[in-house]
Amino acid sequence: MTASVIEWSALAACKGPHRNVFFPPSALERKEDRLLREQQAKRICSGCCVQEACLDEALRNQESHGIWGGLNEVERRAKSTLVRTPPELSRSDARQYN
Ligand code: SF4
Repeated sequence: MTASVIEWSALAACKGPHRNVFFPPSALERKEDRLLREQQAKRICSGCCVQEACLDEALRNQESHGIWGGLNEVERRAKSTLVRTPPELSRSDARQYN
């Protein structure tokens, strides 16, 4: 863990006994249970003062499991894809390709 991660993680709202709702159990999890668990975790994230730093860290590390910064792994992947997609072409640029 880097110094900045230690700094923001000390303020994380997910510290403590409810930490288990942020990650799937080791046993198989039914879809309804997963949705409920993720909803609980996201509710905690929504009131967390370090949500942005947490999400940035998860995106940078390509965290493949759990809720980070209020997003699950699928939502983070989608966000990463959006971030990597180049900005839309301006109208004048687009004309060159038509
Ligand atoms: S945003 Fe969510 S996962 Fe990240 S530190 Fe806060 S409560 Fe924990």
